[in-house]
Amino acid sequence: MMPWKEHVARSPGRDCDQARPRLRAGGGRDSDRGMRPPRCNKVPGVDLLEYQGKQLFARHGVPVPDGRLAVSVEEAMAAADDLGYPCVIKAQVQIGGRGKAGGIKLAKDRDEVREHAAAILGMNIRGLTVHELWVEEASEIDAEYYASVVFDRSAKAPLMMLSTKGGMDIEEVAAEDPDAIAKLHVDPLLGFQDFHGRRLAFEAGVDQDVVRPIGEMLGKLYEVFVSEEATLVEVNPLIVTSGSSDDGAARAVRALDAKVTLDENAMFRHSDNAQLRDISGEDPQERMAKERGLTFVKLDGDIGILGNGAGLVMSTLDVVAEAGGSPANFLDAGGGSKAEAITSAVEVILSNPKVKAVLFNIFGGITRCDEVARGLIEAFHQVNPQVPFVVRLDGTNDEEGRRLLADASLPNVIVESTMDGAARRVVELAAGRSAEPAGVMEAPSG
Ligand code: GDP
Ligand code: MN
Repeated sequence: MMPWKEHVARSPGRDCDQARPRLRAGGGRDSDRGMRPPRCNKVPGVDLLEYQGKQLFARHGVPVPDGRLAVSVEEAMAAADDLGYPCVIKAQVQIGGRGKAGGIKLAKDRDEVREHAAAILGMNIRGLTVHELWVEEASEIDAEYYASVVFDRSAKAPLMMLSTKGGMDIEEVAAEDPDAIAKLHVDPLLGFQDFHGRRLAFEAGVDQDVVRPIGEMLGKLYEVFVSEEATLVEVNPLIVTSGSSDDGAARAVRALDAKVTLDENAMFRHSDNAQLRDISGEDPQERMAKERGLTFVKLDGDIGILGNGAGLVMSTLDVVAEAGGSPANFLDAGGGSKAEAITSAVEVILSNPKVKAVLFNIFGGITRCDEVARGLIEAFHQVNPQVPFVVRLDGTNDEEGRRLLADASLPNVIVESTMDGAARRVVELAAGRSAEPAGVMEAPSG
C-alpha cells in the first residue's frame, strides 16, 4: 500500500464537481469519444453530502467505512475515540477536490484529530465554508476504482460505469483513456442482473479476486439508484482494501467516497430523504419559494419581478434589462394564479431587502386579471409593502382588474398598460428618479 500522503497527493480527488458524469455513452452521436456532457439533461436535483450518501449506501448494504458526524473539534475527538485510530477527518462540502484542497486528513491519534479538525472546520474550499466533518475509520487501500450509475436519457436507460482508474478525475480518464471505462446500459424492466456485474468487472479489468464483491456492490448501487430515485450515484474511489496477509483474509471492497444526486421531482415519494437537502447551502428566499411551490430563481438586481408563465417572465426580465434595470428574481406565478398564490409571491419577493421596486406583468389567459388584482390587494393588506409596485394587467378580465385596483387605492401602486412602459417606469422608480405621488394612477397608454 502506498503511504497515505503520497496517495492523496497523487489523487486529483473528488471527481467531477460541475462536470460530474451526467454523461452519455452507448447510443447517440457523442458516444464515439467516450463520455461527454449531454446537451440538455438538467433535472432539478438534490446533491447529498458525502456522509449522507454513505448513510444511504449503508441502508442498501453497500459496504462503507464506519463514521460519525462532528461539527466541533470536541465532537471530532469523541467520534475518533469511539471509532479508534487511525481515522480520517473529512470536510463535508458540496464540492470535489477536497483531498487536494487539504480537506481530508489522516489522524493517527487524538492530538492529530484535534489539529486536523481545527484546521478543516471553517476552512474555505473553493468558496464553500466547512461546517461539518465526517470522522471515519481509516481504510487500507490496495487499489482505487471508480463506479457510477447515471441516467442516460438518449438510451432511456440507466448507464453503469466501472473503471480501475479511480481516485482521479473521471472526466480526465474519459478524455485521455476512454477505453479504461467499462460501460453498460441496464434494461430498466429487467433490472440489474449478476451478469451485468461480471461483464463490467471483466471489461474494466478488475483484479480476479474482487470480481464477485465488485459485482455485488454494483448491484446494490443500482438498487440505491432505482429505489431512492437518484439521478447520479458515483463512488470515487471505490477501494479494494488490503487483505491481511497473515491469516490470508480475502480482500474486500468499500465505497470510500459517495456522490449522490436525488431527483427533486421525486422527493415527495421519499419523505425520509427530504430532510437531506443541504438547508445551510440553500438561499433562504429560494427555500421559501420552494416551500410555497413557486418557480423562483434569485438574481442580483433590485427590481422584483412577477409574471405568469415562464416565457412572459423571461421577456419581462429582458425588457427590464433593456430599460437599464436589474431584476432581483425570476418568479413565475403559473397559469391560473389565484389570489392566494399572488399574496404568497409578493411575500417571497419582498423578503429580499435589496428589492426597491416591483414589476407585476400579467397576461391574462387562463389567469384572470381580476383574480390577480384581488391577490395584490390582499397582499397589500397583509404585508404592507414599502416599495412601489408597477402593475401591467392585460388579457382576461383586465378592465375588471384595473377597476379593482383603482377602487382599492393602494399606496404606491402604478398601473401601466404596456410592458415597455411598465419596465421603464419600474426602472425609474427603483433608481429613485420618479417622484410619483402615492395612489393608484392609470398612466397614459403607449
Ligand atoms: P475528494 O478528494 O473530495 O474526492 O474526497 P475522497 O473521499 O475521494 O478522498 C480523496 C482521497 O483521499 C481518496 O482518493 C483516497 O486516496 C484518500 N483517502 C480518503 N480516505 C482514506 C483512508 O481512509 N485511507 C487512505 N489510505 N486514503 C484515504
Ligand atoms: Mn472522491
